[in-house]
Amino acid sequence: MPAMQNVIDFIDTHRRRFVDELVAWVRIPSVSSDPAHAQDVRRSAEHLATELRGLGAGRVEIWPTAGHPAVFGEWRQAHGKPTLLVYGHHDVQPVDPLGEWISPPFEPAQREGRLWGRGVVDDKGQVHIHAKAIESFVKTVGKLPINLKLIVEGEEEIGSVNLDALLHDHAADLASDFVCVSDTAMFGRGLPSLCVGLRGLSYVELFVEGPSLDLHSGSFGGAVMNPVNALAKMIASLHDEGGRVAVAGFYDDVVALGDAERKQIASLPFDEQSWLRSTGAPATWGEEGYSTLERTWARPTLDCCGIGGGFQGEGAKTIIPARASAKISCRLVPNQEPNDIARKLTEHLRRVAPPGVRVRIETLHGARPYLAPTDHPVYGVAQRAFSKAFGKPTVFIREGGSIPFVRTIADATGKPCLLMGFGQPDENAHAPNEWLDLDNYLLGIKSAAYLYDEIATMAP
Ligand SMILES: [Zn+2]
Repeated sequence: MPAMQNVIDFIDTHRRRFVDELVAWVRIPSVSSDPAHAQDVRRSAEHLATELRGLGAGRVEIWPTAGHPAVFGEWRQAHGKPTLLVYGHHDVQPVDPLGEWISPPFEPAQREGRLWGRGVVDDKGQVHIHAKAIESFVKTVGKLPINLKLIVEGEEEIGSVNLDALLHDHAADLASDFVCVSDTAMFGRGLPSLCVGLRGLSYVELFVEGPSLDLHSGSFGGAVMNPVNALAKMIASLHDEGGRVAVAGFYDDVVALGDAERKQIASLPFDEQSWLRSTGAPATWGEEGYSTLERTWARPTLDCCGIGGGFQGEGAKTIIPARASAKISCRLVPNQEPNDIARKLTEHLRRVAPPGVRVRIETLHGARPYLAPTDHPVYGVAQRAFSKAFGKPTVFIREGGSIPFVRTIADATGKPCLLMGFGQPDENAHAPNEWLDLDNYLLGIKSAAYLYDEIATMAP
């Protein structure tokens, strides 16, 4: 029997035990944002390290950081073959509101072909997919067909605050030919999808100040500028009638969507009506000339995320408010830079501010967008591997959100980064009742195994 068939058979034979092992790991409440769980995050790292030590790794280490520890594992027995660096994280989101969980978040339960619990898919389940693919080679063939390094950090859910330092300090340890990040969702059930683009972020807070205290609107109204009126006017100036962002230079560095990718996006099984229903909004809206998927994946946007000022209580109170403020975020696409966009937005807001108010703008945070070099052969190889497991052509998708560490890892390593995620679009990551599709988990292990096998055919 060919070696790869042995690996696939091993995965099928051991699927129940694999799930039991994942359950044991999910039981550890590794909530990185809560200092009360710091010991649990450490326990989670140790649990993973122990598991990896049993899988033939030449080296397994727990790497301390200024915050929570990361786990590193290394398999280097495939001489002359490429090295793949796999990234995941073992910390999880907080669980509140706890009352909305059908079964307790850290007592994983199986129902409806799913495993329910915090971290089952984001991201312990996805790290486990790789661990079990590794095991399936080690326990059948004896070793992996490629060299593999696994870095599993403990601070992804709190912004990967020490990842830069970790990548810098361990640059030699992490040297690789390709990077694979498994922390995203597929486009739909059973549809193998590689994410090839992520949007970035630029976030500012705008403060508009007028009188030093709220004034009587009868005595002062019409004679001093009202900060809430001024703020509304400024916000209204941020888009034109066609839904485009009206900030000068905003689109200067945007990489236009190519015809081939537009066609590819249009061919995806996207049901806009049911998508719209899921939002509850009465109609779609956005930049003229682009579809909904294009608007959310490949075009930059600007949104007012919050607004405050003036009297918010019940009934009427007649005042000229002293101040007003708004939080404004821009989702960025390649090659926009967060600082450049924050500067252009700041200039725009200062320019349109009416006389009679003081304007202050603070930059809150930013993230750089990512676009994969899809003409690199490793993307074709990954498509083939994913398709072998799922029996369907693999599609390229993008993601409208930001995953800063992808850009961090891509920049630090200079290598192509595969975003091979095994989540489902409605799996409740970060929400109550997070779940993992167990059939998909099994296909994920097979996909990872095929990925290693296919990469072995490439030159390092
Ligand atoms: Zn995650």
